[in-house]
Amino acid sequence: MSDSRSAELFERAKVSIPGGVNSPVRAFRAVGGSPVFIASAAGATLTCADGTRYTDYIGSWGPMILGHAHPAVVAAITEAAAKGTSFGAPTEGEVLLAEKVKSLYPSIEMLRCTSSGTEATMAAIRVARGFTGRSTVVKFEGCYHGHADFLLVKAGSGAATFGVPDSAGVPEGSARNTMTAAFNDVPGLEALFAAHGSDIAAVIVEPVVGNMGCVPPDAGFLEAILALCTKHGAVSIFDEVMTGCRLSSGGYQGRVGLTPDMTCLGKIVGGGMPLAVYGGKRAIMEQVAPVGPVYQAGTLSGNPVAVAAALTTLARLDAALYTHLEALGAQLEGGLNSALAEAGVEGCVQRVGSMITLFFTKGPVRHWGHASSSNTKQFAVFHQQMLSRGEYWPPSQYEAAFLSGAHTEALVAQTVKHAHEALRVVATSS
Ligand SMILES: *Cc1c(COP(=O)(O)O)cnc(C)c1O
Repeated sequence: MSDSRSAELFERAKVSIPGGVNSPVRAFRAVGGSPVFIASAAGATLTCADGTRYTDYIGSWGPMILGHAHPAVVAAITEAAAKGTSFGAPTEGEVLLAEKVKSLYPSIEMLRCTSSGTEATMAAIRVARGFTGRSTVVKFEGCYHGHADFLLVKAGSGAATFGVPDSAGVPEGSARNTMTAAFNDVPGLEALFAAHGSDIAAVIVEPVVGNMGCVPPDAGFLEAILALCTKHGAVSIFDEVMTGCRLSSGGYQGRVGLTPDMTCLGKIVGGGMPLAVYGGKRAIMEQVAPVGPVYQAGTLSGNPVAVAAALTTLARLDAALYTHLEALGAQLEGGLNSALAEAGVEGCVQRVGSMITLFFTKGPVRHWGHASSSNTKQFAVFHQQMLSRGEYWPPSQYEAAFLSGAHTEALVAQTVKHAHEALRVVATSS
């Protein structure tokens, strides 16, 4: 469905880059198409290699909450770059960023910057293991926490989309200390703690899952995780790489008033640059070298250009932005629901704030076992139909779509109109 210039670039890319892409889900394999190559972006609009324009509902998979090429962010990046792009020595900006993150996330008393969410979760778990002297990590089926060996177990979206729930190249030993439970299954987690409580170093969770599509926690589920961790001396880790600064400026924890032991941030916190954060209680973070015995490092960690983008983005996460996102989210949710009803297609729309998924299965979807029963053939038709109408929707059933501050009521209305048309095609194709 992509243009000829993108098709030509994709053919060349496949010769030199596995699958032609630098991250698997960009390849559009799950929806049977070939990817659109992007030339530029501004606000809510992507412009592809041949000049075709799309309304963007991916936002670089989450970071672009202010919209693309926000003038203030571009200015901050330009100004920082002119002063030098990396020093390998501390800067004032890093101190300002640490203080800003702490002010937004009261659960974070100390933090470290990394260059990706993968590094942040990997480091958080190493620190939790160092702090507790235990090995076992509990994660939930369908949650994705980056591509570290021991976390690539039942890891949702990318992995699920490509039918590689457990990646090749991960030694058995790496996954041996990872246990999985079903999301929203409190009795399951209680049983796991009853049997293995004294071995569990940490429980890591996406507080609202984005990586099996948008799946919110049931009332009491996250509270149960925190309580079980406290009771058994394990470290609770909220992986808010996706939800952080999206569901409120203080993440989902800020929205609902929960206090995990540790938190991982990424995507938005880096303002569209490679920057992520892990942090938490002071006693836990004081395990990190050079203060403590847990080693973690990074040549480009706290990079000055990334820090400038981060500070400028975080300064703009005000109440007006989240009010705007909530209104647009409600408009899109209502519109997709009415389009499903009109077309007579079975599906459900799940949304928290500006994260939204249209599942092609009867809802509500509460865990991976249910999400994975979605009709991905129907999703592929929907995706192709939307793309051909200029709507750049995530190319997988198991990814959340995102709104940004640059989206408008008029753009969303147009998207809803296109969704009506696309779902009518889905209805006749199945
Ligand atoms: C994207 C994501 C990660 C990984 O972040 P990268 O920057 O891609 O390494 C980890 N956890 C969650 C919840 C994510 O959405």
